[in-house]
Amino acid sequence: MRGKIIKGIAGFYYVHDGISKVYECKAKGVFRSRKIKPLVGDDVEFTVLDEKEQTGNITDILERKNELIRPAVANIDQAMIVFAVTDPEPNLNLLDRFLVTMEMQGVPAVICFNKMDLGTGERERELRQIYEAAGYSVYFTSANDKESVDMVRELLKGKTTALAGPSGVGKSSLTNQIQPEAAMETGAISEKIRRGRHTTRHSELFFVEPETFVMDTPGFSSIYVESLKPEELSGYFPEFEDFVPDCRFLGCVHVGERECGVKEAVKEGKLAVSRYENYRLIYEELKNKRRY
Ligand code: GDP
Ligand code: ZN
Repeated sequence: MRGKIIKGIAGFYYVHDGISKVYECKAKGVFRSRKIKPLVGDDVEFTVLDEKEQTGNITDILERKNELIRPAVANIDQAMIVFAVTDPEPNLNLLDRFLVTMEMQGVPAVICFNKMDLGTGERERELRQIYEAAGYSVYFTSANDKESVDMVRELLKGKTTALAGPSGVGKSSLTNQIQPEAAMETGAISEKIRRGRHTTRHSELFFVEPETFVMDTPGFSSIYVESLKPEELSGYFPEFEDFVPDCRFLGCVHVGERECGVKEAVKEGKLAVSRYENYRLIYEELKNKRRY
């Protein structure tokens, strides 16, 4: 049988069959000799040992599309970064860090500003302007608005999505509506997993519908950014790229240099001030860190 690892705890892997059942599996197969450790998100071959107990053995791991380092998870198609328009006010520095983290790992990111019902049109235009100009798709949603929920469902469809964002912005409110009762995994194991939810900080995928999984990533922080060399940072602000050829100095990091195309573009309003300021803050941090 084929399935996807949705959770791993203490040597057990919980494999979703893609329809409704979850099997508690051990890793037994030939791949062990290849020294590959199964990851959440892995598509696997497995055999059922006991249908009633929902136990099995993983016999092979299919080729990974990608492998994230933090969190350690395979086959993530996209990240959906959720912030609230207000309440809490969006921390754009944190948002930009999330984006850098995703750029570094080659994961396409979409941005969702929730609690649209509490915001103003002006704020919405401003946020849209900043992030669309940076090349990201930006969505505005309200968790209790049917159109929003349908739109999010459409965005997730057929993909495995890492859901990231601070707490209190409405991530659970949005996803709870997308996981209909009917799609909930059934059976003894799922019961066990459900009860264990929120008690661990392990990565876990949630089945939404066939081919569609969501990973809630509470630990999806900015820490990963710290492994970056400061001079590499600007490469992860995709919209800067157009202006780099106007920098006088090769290897310009767009901070203290004269005749910098990026700084010029900020002055002329071609690049968002908040993006550039956050770039500088992160840059300084990376730079200071390296001195220790
Ligand atoms: P999470 O921590 O990101 O999962 O956020 P929750 O889903 O727990 O939501 C936090 C709070 O915001 C709850 O009181 C929700 O009822 C509320 N909330 C969530 N989405 C919306 C929304 O679109 N509009 C408004 N006004 N409140 C929302
Ligand atoms: Zn420059």
